[in-house]
Amino acid sequence: MIPDAFTHDDQPVFAGQYTNAEWDALKAQSLESPFAFKMGCCKSRAVLKTSSNGLQFFAHYSDECATAPETAWHIAGKDLVFGALNLFGVNPRSEVPGGTGRDRWKADIYFEIGERKIAIELQRSTQHLKDFVARQERYARYGVECYWLIRYEVAMRLLNAIMKKRFKEEFNRVVPPLGYMINTWPNFYFGILNPENDSTNVVTPGFAISHFELLASIINNDLHWNGMQWSITPNL
Ligand SMILES: [Zn+2]
Repeated sequence: MIPDAFTHDDQPVFAGQYTNAEWDALKAQSLESPFAFKMGCCKSRAVLKTSSNGLQFFAHYSDECATAPETAWHIAGKDLVFGALNLFGVNPRSEVPGGTGRDRWKADIYFEIGERKIAIELQRSTQHLKDFVARQERYARYGVECYWLIRYEVAMRLLNAIMKKRFKEEFNRVVPPLGYMINTWPNFYFGILNPENDSTNVVTPGFAISHFELLASIINNDLHWNGMQWSITPNL
């Protein structure tokens, strides 16, 4: 996992690990000293910022690097999720660590509802299907539900990998009946997030909704695999 930034002595850090007071103090430091923090992506100078939703994040001081679109997507996405969850009153936190030993995880956004523990992962860079599965299973070992929001570029590869696997292993290379979304599957939910779209910014194979609607359905436990695709169906 790419850290948000590095300190002057190359310690990896995440914006979510600091309290508001610490963040404000470090913010001043990052403006005064060009060497206080470096970006996790390219080690160029980083400055500390706080979004209008209260999300703390590191940003490039000047020149953006080749991975800047990924970083920008990650921050914008986290901010949308963080803002919506705040609005819903579920007390989200960012960069929450858990697990033990080699089996550690760090959730981009984490919150709890009663007994339920929920992680929202925002996947900015390409990741193998087996790594999605491994990380999902790791969360499951700790009783955490994980939902993925991914970049379009990440999705292209994931959709293809899932489709190839299911076409061969489940459908015996026969085209499934209408309604089956074979480029998605029950093992984990993912939606393609485009923070720049206004109303329908999350595309799930089969339907498009806003991140507000998606997060509300997760909170209400209404997001389920219906046998053919993910769908939002109220739990009665
Ligand atoms: Zn960078």
